[in-house]
Amino acid sequence: MANAPAEFPAWPGGAEVAVALTFDVDGESAWLGEGQENERRLTLLSQGRFGPTRGLGRVLDLLAEFDISATFYVPGHTADQHPDTVTAILARGHEVGHHGYLHRGTDALDAAGQRAELEAGLTALGRHGVRPAGYRSPGWELTPENLALLTELDFSYDSSLMADDRPYWQVGGNRPLLELPGHWSLCDWPYFGWTPYYGGLLADPAAVERIWLDEFESARQDRRAVTYTMHPEAVGRGYLILMLRRVITGMLSRGRPWFATHAQIAALAAKPAG
Ligand SMILES: [Zn+2]
Repeated sequence: MANAPAEFPAWPGGAEVAVALTFDVDGESAWLGEGQENERRLTLLSQGRFGPTRGLGRVLDLLAEFDISATFYVPGHTADQHPDTVTAILARGHEVGHHGYLHRGTDALDAAGQRAELEAGLTALGRHGVRPAGYRSPGWELTPENLALLTELDFSYDSSLMADDRPYWQVGGNRPLLELPGHWSLCDWPYFGWTPYYGGLLADPAAVERIWLDEFESARQDRRAVTYTMHPEAVGRGYLILMLRRVITGMLSRGRPWFATHAQIAALAAKPAG
């Protein structure tokens, strides 16, 4: 599938780099989406629940302190189980994007299943008056069928693919779709997530802080946009909120970032020729 870098005018306010802080509010959905057997695993589910019930508040307070607008990708199940979560995100002026309903991996579903998951997510967010313009696939896997559904269902952009570290146009479908790429190295989960029986890394936050600030410096030199992906159940732990604070202050001391939502960045992208 072809793609072409998206063209942008200068970032607003003389900023050198557009920084999208994004948060996937998975809650219990990521575990429930793996199978019904997880319904009786209270510890597993409670680890997820920490995100909406505890970690999210810390994230929202930190963003408010620095007057940063962010994008929250919320599974429909989280919106249904924790409606106050969506209310709080919207009340602080942030963007809400689509992140499936029960966080089912698109590659594990047939085309009908993928459509049902997308439509259920739209319905759940719609109950909050949200019609999301953006989508991030659960678990970061995207199928050709799902990609086609995104254009059919009128999404403006996606944040699931990784073919460039600049925003780019996915062309070749029924219409171009803007891709706002992330990467595993710019996500908290591979460093700080823990999956029972599989484990995790539980990395040193100082190392991740360095990686994320080096990526910021690279993006600043390129004058490009960069997306960081976090989960309130991970980054919302006390010691990691301290890390996120240092990352934000580190960016502010190293350059002139424009902290923007994905919608704000997408709105500036020039449409591809042809
Ligand atoms: Zn997720």
